[in-house]
Amino acid sequence: MGMSGLQIYKLLPKTNCKDCGFPTCLAFAMKLAAKQADLAACPHVSEESKTALAASAAPPMRLVTLGSGDTEVKVGNETEMFRHNKTFYNPVGVFLRVQDTQSTAEIEAAVAEAMGYQVERVGITLSLSGVAVENASGDKEAFVAAIKAAQAKANGKPFIIMTEDPAAAQAGLEAAGEKTLLYAATKDNWEEMVAVAKAAGASLAVYEPEGLTPLANLAENVKGAGIEDIVLDPGTRSMPDSLALFTQIRRLALTKNFLPLGYPTIAFPGEGAESPEEEAIIAGQHIAKYGGFVVLDHFDPAVAYILLTLRLNIYTDPQKPIQVSPGMYEIGDPGPDSPLLVTTNFSLTYFSVAGEVDGSGVSSWLLITDSEGMSVLTAWAAGNFDAETVAKGAKAFDVESKVSHRKIIIPGYVAVISGELEEEMPGWEILVGPREAVDIPSYLKLWQN
Ligand code: SF4
Repeated sequence: MGMSGLQIYKLLPKTNCKDCGFPTCLAFAMKLAAKQADLAACPHVSEESKTALAASAAPPMRLVTLGSGDTEVKVGNETEMFRHNKTFYNPVGVFLRVQDTQSTAEIEAAVAEAMGYQVERVGITLSLSGVAVENASGDKEAFVAAIKAAQAKANGKPFIIMTEDPAAAQAGLEAAGEKTLLYAATKDNWEEMVAVAKAAGASLAVYEPEGLTPLANLAENVKGAGIEDIVLDPGTRSMPDSLALFTQIRRLALTKNFLPLGYPTIAFPGEGAESPEEEAIIAGQHIAKYGGFVVLDHFDPAVAYILLTLRLNIYTDPQKPIQVSPGMYEIGDPGPDSPLLVTTNFSLTYFSVAGEVDGSGVSSWLLITDSEGMSVLTAWAAGNFDAETVAKGAKAFDVESKVSHRKIIIPGYVAVISGELEEEMPGWEILVGPREAVDIPSYLKLWQN
C-alpha cells in the first residue's frame, strides 16, 4: 500500500525551501501521495528516504510488456479511473485464442486471417495485438506443435501461453520465446509456474476466482517469489460480475494505492458469452472498463473493426485531438483545372473528406488549415476556421500556383464566412460545398459537368 501524505512528509527535509516548485514540504508530500508530483523534483531528499519512498513513487499499476519491436504490446501503467479526467495510456491488448485440439491447418488459417487483418482509421493502422494458444488437449507435444503453427502465421506478434501444467508451460515458453505471458498460476501450482516463468523471462498471469483477497494474496506470493510482471484474472466471466470486479481492482489500485492488485487484468469474453455476438459485446465492455488483455475466441473483421475503433477512441487523449499537418494535399492526380476544397486539420475531418473526394474519382486539391485539430463547426466557433485562417492557409501553401480557376470550395457548415472570405481573397470565387462529407462525390460530379 502506498504511503499517506503525512508518512511521506516525515521522510522529506522539512526546510520548505520551495526548490520543488511547491510552497512547503507538506504540500509536496501531498502531491506525491496523489501521484501528481515526481520525487526527483526535490533535490535535497536523502538516499535513505529515496529508498523508503520508492514504493510510494511507483506507478499504481504495473506496466507489462509482451513481444518486442514493432509488434510490442504494452499494457498497464494507467493512472486514471475515468478517461475524461486525463487519458488512458496503454491500449488494451486484443488477442485471438486458438487451441491445440484444432488441426494445424485450422490454427494456421485462423491466425493468418486475424493477424493479417489491418484497417486504417484517421491515419492510424489498427490491428489485433497477438495470439493466445491454449493447451486444451493436455498433451505437451500437441501444445508445442500448435504454438509453432501459430507462430508461422503470427507476423511476429506476441503470445499468451495458456496451461496450468508447469511441464507444458516450460515447453510452450521455450517454443514461444521471450516476453510471452504465461497463463496461469493458481493457488495450487504457483510455485512451479513462477520457476518456469522466471527461467523463461515471461510475465505471469494469476487466476483466482475465490475473491479479491485470495487474488491479492496469490499475486503477493508470486511477486515475493521474484515475478514483477503480473496479470490478474479474478475468474469472473459474466458482464455484470466482470464489470464490478474489474472496476474494484482498478479503484483499489489507483485510488487506494493497493499494490497487491496494481496490475493489468486479463479477460476471456467468449467464456461468458452464448454467441460470438455476445462475446463481442462483453469484449467491448472490457475495452472500456477495465481490461488489460482481452482474449477473443472468434475473429470476424466486422467485429474487429468495431472493437479496435472503440479501443482507439478510448485510448486517445481527449485533450489532444488527433491532427494532420496543415498543407495542400493532392487527392488523385489534380491539375490546374481540378477543384480546390478547404477544411480543418482534425484527423477525422481530413480522412472523411479525403476519403469521399478519393471515392468520387474527381482528382482534387485539398487545402488543410491549422485549426488546432478541431472539426469544422468547433473550429469556426473557436475562431480557428474563419475567413482569415482560410486566406492565411491559401497564401502559406501557395494555392494560386496550383489552380488556374480561382475558385475555392468551403464546407457548407461555414457558409457564413463566404462574404468575409471574398474580401480576404480578392479575385477568388467562394463556393459553398456540402455540409456533410458524404455528399461531396455528388457535388464534385457537378463540378465535372
Ligand atoms: Fe521541501 Fe524538498 Fe520541496 Fe524543498 S524541495 S520544499 S526540501 S520537498
